[in-house]
Parts: sequence; structure tokens; C-alpha cells
Amino acid sequence: MKLLILLSVLAASAIASQKRYDGYQLFQVTPKDQSSFEAMVQLYEQSENYDFWIAPRGIDIAMDIMVPPAYVSVFVDLMHAYSMEYRVKMIDVQTVLDMAREERERTPRVATPRYSVDWNTYYDFNDISAFCNEIAAAHPNMVTVSSIGRSYENRAIPMVKISTGGSGKKAIVVDGGIHAREWISPAFVTWLINELVENYAAHPQYVDNIDWYIMPVINPDGYQFTFALTGDRLWRKNRRPNNDGIGGSSCLGTDMNRNFGFHWNEGGSSANGCSDTFHGGAAFSEVETQHVRDAVLAVAGPAEMYLTFHAYGQYWLTPWGYTATLPSDYTQLYNLAVSACNKLTAVYGTRYTIGSSTNVLYVASGGSDDWAKGGAGIPFSYTVEMRDEGLYGFELPARQILPNNLEVWEGIKVMAESLF
Ligand SMILES: [Zn+2]
Repeated sequence: MKLLILLSVLAASAIASQKRYDGYQLFQVTPKDQSSFEAMVQLYEQSENYDFWIAPRGIDIAMDIMVPPAYVSVFVDLMHAYSMEYRVKMIDVQTVLDMAREERERTPRVATPRYSVDWNTYYDFNDISAFCNEIAAAHPNMVTVSSIGRSYENRAIPMVKISTGGSGKKAIVVDGGIHAREWISPAFVTWLINELVENYAAHPQYVDNIDWYIMPVINPDGYQFTFALTGDRLWRKNRRPNNDGIGGSSCLGTDMNRNFGFHWNEGGSSANGCSDTFHGGAAFSEVETQHVRDAVLAVAGPAEMYLTFHAYGQYWLTPWGYTATLPSDYTQLYNLAVSACNKLTAVYGTRYTIGSSTNVLYVASGGSDDWAKGGAGIPFSYTVEMRDEGLYGFELPARQILPNNLEVWEGIKVMAESLF
């Protein structure tokens, strides 16, 4: 009887557990020559066993790769065969996930009675969605919330418009949460909404001169899955079962940031439905990327800037992602990013790498930033990869949310001022 009870308790705890990463290791790998770089690209494109937290970009540029325990020894052999420079950043990924969860459980939720979120910890999609409605209700003259459409699992994807009215204003489009596990992204984008609205009086120029269209979580199904008791903290893609990739219907999810329809499927993405960078069966095959496309096109006239927030690595990236060729207005894009990052760094000394493609050999096509510029015609388009540099990776401690947000805000102000 006791054994039966024990077994059923074990079964229940197994059911109520997220995917575990016991013995998984995070390697930082730096290819030193062409052949070792190409070996890593091959691994990235063809193997579903390795999870690239930071993708290959070029010789002498480090990447972060999570390796399952069963593959560690073969991976180390590969490192030595190619004389690759490598080190282990996380000896056991599960320990890092456990520590982060324990810290969150110790953090009291101090969300105000008015708002369902604060920026002392991370909040799930339901809380963020509630926050969008609450701040709109509290500021009806400045904030309107709408849904751009429903996700595969039927969640309404919110868009918050912040505007003090008037006509002929330029607009900035912002999104977050396209990659489910990058929790700092919605945590920043919701903070940005709050800062523009609640602290309007401190800096009215950012709303008086600009209309903001802000979508804090454009991959709600994936994002919610990273919080779910039976989910996966390190899930990246959306949650639609796919039959349209190699691997058939055995795997779920498309990488939404490889699914946009501007030079789609021209490298740096995978045809394997089980890969974390699966580009989908066609450009805009996913209902969520379709909704984002339509919402952005609806404001593409006034929109002068598109900002999409990711983690991690501390990069302020300009198009193009699909090619190493630079856009004709690259100098303008680059110079503005330099000004933004100078202000950002001045806050806490956090260094960002700016750029697109200088020294970058390897591309990633189907990104939302490329489409925003090339497809929707929004001239200033940036992907911002926020903290950190891989000490915690996706498990950026909650106590870093506010410092991250405060420093990135300094960069955003520079970006916005360039349109005044
Ligand atoms: Zn990302």
C-alpha cells in the first residue's frame, strides 16, 4: 500500500514537472578558422540535438550551445578535432533553472492594486494581458488596447497604442516575446508602456511627438508554455503542430523570427520541424506572424521605426539579417545605434555590440526586422538583444529587470528623439 502511494506521488510529481535539463551543459564556443566555423554552421543547420542559445555568426565570434548529457563527449571530441576554443559556462543547466525559480518564489509580488504586473519578477501572459487592459482603462485619453488577432491556441494578442492625438505624427512600432524563453523581452516592453504613460509628465515629448504601437507578447502560446507546470522553460518557438517540415508531425512549433516573408528561407534557418530554428512550411505560415504582419502594415505609413526586443547577448542589430550586404542607409542606421548605445552604456557600463554584418559570415533569414524594413518599408528597424552575455542567459535574475530596463530606456529615448 505504502509503495502504491509512493508510486502515485512520484507519478503525480512527474506529471506536474516542466521539462528537465539535468546534466545539460552550456558551452561557449569560438571558431578560429573557416573550417571550424563551417563545422558549427553544419551542426546548427542540420542537427536538432544541439540548442544554439547564440547562433554562429563568424570566425572569432563566440556562440553559446546547450548540449544534452548523451552528446557531451562526442561534442568535446568535435571541439578538439577542430581545435576550437571552448569553455563550459553552465555545468548543469537544471541547477541554473532551479536557482532562478527559487529566487522568483522568494520574491514577493508587489503589483499595485491597479496593475497586475510590476518589474520585480516575471509575469505570465495572462498577467501581461490584464496589465494592457488595466493601463488602458486608467488612461483612456492616452492609451487604447486592441487585439491584433488570436494565436493558434486562441489567445488574443494585445496591441497597446499610446498617443496624445493629433494627426500627421510619426510612429514607432515595438514588439516583444517573439521567442518564448526570452523573458526579459516582455518584462522590458511592458515597462516601456508603463514609463511612457505613468511617467508621461516627466518626459511628455516622447508621447507628444510620437504615436507608439506596442505588442508586448507576440508569441503568447510559446511564452505561456515556458510558465506552464508541464511546460518547458527553454521553449523558443510557437506551439502549432507542424507537418510541413522534415520530421513530419512529430514536433511542434515554428521559429516565428525565421517565418517573416522577406527573403524567407535564404539561410540561417532550418527545414527540420524539430529544429529550434524551423522556418515553417512557407513565409507567414503561422497565424501569429500573419497577425503581426497585418498589424504592422496597417500603421506602416506613419511608422518610421520598428524595434523588436530579444535576449540575450547585448547586441543592437541593424538589417540585413538575410545577407552580409549592407542596406544603402546603413551609415544612418549604424550612427543612430552608436548614439543610443553610448547613452545606454553610460548608465551601468553595460556594453552592447552594434552592427549588422561587418565581419559576419553567417546570416539568418526570415527575421521580423528584415521584413519590417524591406517588406513594410519602415526605414529604421532594429533587433535589440538585451542582457546578459550568457552568465545566466535566458534566466536573467529578476533583480536585473529594472537595471536592464533603465539602461535600454536611455537608448530608446535617443532612438525616439531622432524622429522629432
Ligand atoms: Zn530571440
